[in-house]
Amino acid sequence: MTSSPAPLPAAPPDLGLVRDEPLAKHTYIRLGGPAAYFGTPEDLTAVERIAAWAHEVGLPLRVLGGGSNLLVSDSGVRAVILSLRRACGRVAFDGVEVEAGAAVMLPALARQAAEHDLGGLEFGIGIPGTVGGALQTNAGIGDGRCIGDLIRSVEVLRDGRRVTVPREAITFTYRHTSLRGSGDIVLGARLALTPRPRAECEAETRRLLEARQRSQPTAEPNNGSVFRNPEGDHAGRLIEAAGCKGLRVGGASVSTLHANFIVHDGTASTADVLGVMGEVQRRVAERFGVRLVPEVEWWGEGAPPPPFAPAV
Ligand SMILES: Cc1cc2nc3c(=O)[nH]c(=O)nc-3n(C[C@H](O)[C@H](O)[C@H](O)COP(=O)(O)OP(=O)(O)OC[C@H]3O[C@@H](n4cnc5c(N)ncnc54)[C@H](O)[C@@H]3O)c2cc1C
Repeated sequence: MTSSPAPLPAAPPDLGLVRDEPLAKHTYIRLGGPAAYFGTPEDLTAVERIAAWAHEVGLPLRVLGGGSNLLVSDSGVRAVILSLRRACGRVAFDGVEVEAGAAVMLPALARQAAEHDLGGLEFGIGIPGTVGGALQTNAGIGDGRCIGDLIRSVEVLRDGRRVTVPREAITFTYRHTSLRGSGDIVLGARLALTPRPRAECEAETRRLLEARQRSQPTAEPNNGSVFRNPEGDHAGRLIEAAGCKGLRVGGASVSTLHANFIVHDGTASTADVLGVMGEVQRRVAERFGVRLVPEVEWWGEGAPPPPFAPAV
């Protein structure tokens, strides 16, 4: 027999939290059920108050950045979801360094850096995520450039206190950092850039965007690379070789342009995407003996669905 969940605690009205906000409105793939509570606090004090309330009533607190690395259950999440868009959107240049709020989008930051004749962030031009999100996965591109290389320090909210964490205290590896899963809320970061003429920065960002347009389904809703590259190989190569390009479940399918992308036609549900992921994993495992591990993160209640379950 399944017991129904306890009723949601009522949030104090002055926290400005919205009930049952559809997360499909906030994820890059445009899918996902409702958040029990959703807030866009106006400043750090409001962030701290919401975090304290969530802790007090025992509701999990999650931060939503650009929503570009998330797959959210059709049933939604029983949690308080925070967007730091208003509280942490500041950018301040200081010589070759820049202080960027956690909610600043990487493409916007790359453009602003170029306007200040500063390079180093060009790789971020096609990554539709925030500074805070990039600091969870050490976001980067295929040639090895990544956010971790630029970080001087990170400001976080830890156990209700604002703490500045020096770079040396953070581990950055391939698509992972020690901030991920730590419980810290990233509020902002200080990055060190390199002097570079604006025209050169912009020529490079154009080249990088053109390369993406040729190789990725940029016009359709998607989640970026769905699976991590296994050691010494590429997930996209394995998926294509396993005959999965175009594989469809409901309204979701493997992109015919890039096999490690799943796209949809506007009629799909998250369940359809999970169906495609599961079949891709099955075919790749059968053909190559490799279990593909998702790069995208699952948000849902209870045990994660099979594509996200730990390998046995
Ligand atoms: C079209 C496309 C192309 C992409 N290309 C790349 C690429 O080239 N390289 C690459 O690395 N990735 C790529 N991605 C994946 C994605 O953009 C990155 O992982 C990005 O860093 C996610 O940032 P986000 O703000 O969207 O995070 P979200 O998806 O909103 O969240 C991801 C995780 O970060 C956490 N988080 C977000 N903000 C904070 C914060 N302030 N404090 C604490 N936790 C936080 C969330 O709680 C969640 O756990 C791509 C995605 C898409 C859709």
